[in-house]
Amino acid sequence: MKRVLVILLPILSILTGCIGIEPDLSSYASGPAEIPLEILGELDSDTRQTLTSDPKYIALTFDDGPRADTTGRLLDGLAERNAACTFFIIGEQVRGNEYLLCRMASEGHQIGSHTYSHTRLTTVSTENMVEEIHKAETVLQSVVGKKDFWLRPPYGQIDRKRAKEIKTPMIYWSVDPLDWKLLDTHKVVDAVLSTVQSGDIVLLHDFYATSVDAALEIVDQLQAQGFIFVTVEELFRIQGVEPQAGVLYANPLKTRPIP
Ligand SMILES: [Zn+2]
Repeated sequence: MKRVLVILLPILSILTGCIGIEPDLSSYASGPAEIPLEILGELDSDTRQTLTSDPKYIALTFDDGPRADTTGRLLDGLAERNAACTFFIIGEQVRGNEYLLCRMASEGHQIGSHTYSHTRLTTVSTENMVEEIHKAETVLQSVVGKKDFWLRPPYGQIDRKRAKEIKTPMIYWSVDPLDWKLLDTHKVVDAVLSTVQSGDIVLLHDFYATSVDAALEIVDQLQAQGFIFVTVEELFRIQGVEPQAGVLYANPLKTRPIP
């Protein structure tokens, strides 16, 4: 069945987009598990602590995709681990990779915009910026249907004048392991694990094989510590924050000043 889907999905998505495949957004916001005392008594103190403490949430975000080999492998790994995340897509890379977007939508991930051609928005006119964002939204919408595509400005750069024209929330990050520069799985894993806390938004790039390997290792290690992987949208909902258009967020509880 999986094999048939692998063959059919790309064809179907090109013919019809993936409108109609509804994401399974099952709630990740469950409270601490209720564990019978007699079972808790059998556990070592670390495991007991993990199982009874408040849930910890984290949002992994991936920029600069989709890319057929790396993004596909990442989606396989995330599905095996039941982990949701967020993809900020470059519009001009969608063609030929439509089935990857269909998978993201149907497997519970959030899709956001990283503009059409990865333009540094502060270097173009406001009209060109609006056009860059509009073009990206149009191509995303043609594949996954109408959604509110939150924006991650390339390089995280936006200014006050241009931010006024942005009609969606903008998502920066609170953890940046510089994966694109390190290109080393273990160093990226260490950079994230040494600093990450519940409520963080982590910046990664599914464009690099080393980042995909690092992401899956990060999921394994943090799930073992009791972290739950959610989309950015879910992280805002869990923390009870209604995100505002034109505001740049490092995480739901911390905005990033716009120069
Ligand atoms: Zn980028």
